[in-house]
Amino acid sequence: MVAELVCVGTELLLGNIVNTNAAYLSEMCARLGLSMYYQTVVGDNEERMYGVISQAVERSDVVILCGGLGPTQDDMTKEVAAKVMGKKLVEDEHSRRCIQEYMDNYLISHPDMTLTANNWKQAMVPEGAIVLDNANGTAPGLILEENGKLVILLPGPPNELIPMFENQVYPFLHSRQPEVIYSRMVKVCGIGESMLEEQIRDLIDSQTNPTIATYAKTGEVHLRITARAEDEAAAKKMIKPMIRELKERFGKNIYTTDEKKTLEDCVVDLLKDQKLTLTTVESCTGGALSARIINVPGASEVLKQGLVTYSNRAKRKFTLVKKSTLKDEGAVSAKTAKEMAKGALESTDCDISVSVTGLAGPDGGTKEKPVGLVYIGCAYRDHTKVREFHFNGNRNKIREQSVVAALVLLRDCILEHYQS
Ligand code: ATP
Ligand code: MG
Repeated sequence: MVAELVCVGTELLLGNIVNTNAAYLSEMCARLGLSMYYQTVVGDNEERMYGVISQAVERSDVVILCGGLGPTQDDMTKEVAAKVMGKKLVEDEHSRRCIQEYMDNYLISHPDMTLTANNWKQAMVPEGAIVLDNANGTAPGLILEENGKLVILLPGPPNELIPMFENQVYPFLHSRQPEVIYSRMVKVCGIGESMLEEQIRDLIDSQTNPTIATYAKTGEVHLRITARAEDEAAAKKMIKPMIRELKERFGKNIYTTDEKKTLEDCVVDLLKDQKLTLTTVESCTGGALSARIINVPGASEVLKQGLVTYSNRAKRKFTLVKKSTLKDEGAVSAKTAKEMAKGALESTDCDISVSVTGLAGPDGGTKEKPVGLVYIGCAYRDHTKVREFHFNGNRNKIREQSVVAALVLLRDCILEHYQS
C-alpha cells in the first residue's frame, strides 16, 4: 500500500514550529511496510487544502492528515476531508461524551475557564467514520474509508498524535497489510557512519528481504533490519541470520538490539550488573554527561556525583589536577583528563570515573589546540585510559559528541576490565 502524508498548519509553513510529526509518521509508515512517495505541508486555507487532499487521495491508498482538528475557526481539516470524500458531518454521541468528560476534568483545575460552543464542533464527524479516542485532548482522530481509499485524521499536538497513532492507528494499519512487517534495531557505538557503511556495503547492495537501513545519530549509528513475511514467526526467522552477521562484524560495538534502549540505559545497566559506583567530572560538557546518565530511571544506584570543574582552580581543588600539569600541558590535554579522572576517583571513593575536557569553541582555538579537540579519561582500579578526539561542528554539536564519546569510553572500560 502507498501512504501519503499531509501536514496542515500555516505555522509549519512559516517555520514557527518544526514538523516533528512528519518525521514520526514517516518512520512509523516505513515500519508498517507502507511505501511513501509524497509529503505535503499546506496552510490553513480551505481551497488549497481541498486541492492537496484530493490529489493525495487520487494517487495514494492511505492519506494521513495531521493538524487542524481543534475547535477554532482556522481548524478545518475534518470539514475539508469530509468534502473530498463526499461525506456529511453528523454528531457523534460518544465523542460528545468524551469531550464533556475531558472538559469537566479540565475545568476542575481551571475554574476560570468555560466550555464554549465551538468545543462541540469537535463532536461532529463524517458519516461512517471510525472515531479514534483522544486520551490527551478533546479532538478525536478519524478514519474515513471510501472506494478502497483510507483517510486518517490526527490532531496536531505530538502528545495527542503519538499515543493515538501507537495505540489505535498502528494496529489498524497493521491489520490491513497483507503481509507482516517485522523489524529489529541494532545500535552501534564507537564507529563512524561512513566506516560502518563501508563494512556493510555488501549487505546494503544485496538487500532485498530483509532490508537494512542505517540511521546516523550523534556518535552512534542505528541499523534497522526489516523483513516482510506471511507471519511474524517467519519474519523473525528471516531477520535472525542478518543480526548474527552484524554481531559478527561489529562485536562489542553493538550496545543493544533492543529498540527502546539508549546508550546511557546500557551503560547504567552495565554499572549495575558489575555493582560499580560512578563519578563524572566534566569541563566543556558542563554537566551534560551526568544529566544524560540521570535520564535513566534508577541511575542513583550507580551515579554518586557529577562534578563540573570548569575553571582551572576547580580542577585543582576538586579533582587534584596538578598546577604544573595545567601550566605545562594546559587544561585541554591528555594529562589533565587523566588527572581529573584519577583525582575524582580518589576524592569520591567511587569505583570508576569518567572525565571530559575540551575546546567547544567558538573561540579559544589555536593551531596546536583547535576547537573540537576533546580528551576523555576514565579511571578504574589502578588503570586510567585517555582518548583524544577531534570533533567538528558548533559548540553544541561538539559538546554532544563529547558526551557520547564519554559514555562509549566508560562502556569500553567496563567491558574490558570488569566483565569476563
Ligand atoms: P488544537 O486542538 O491544539 O488546535 P489541532 O489538531 O487543531 O490541535 P493544530 O492547531 O494544527 O492542531 O496545531 C496545534 C499545535 O500542535 C501546534 O501549535 C504545534 O505545537 C503542534 N503541531 C501541529 N502540527 C505539528 C507538526 N506537524 N509537528 C509538530 N507539532 C505540530
Ligand atoms: Mg488548532
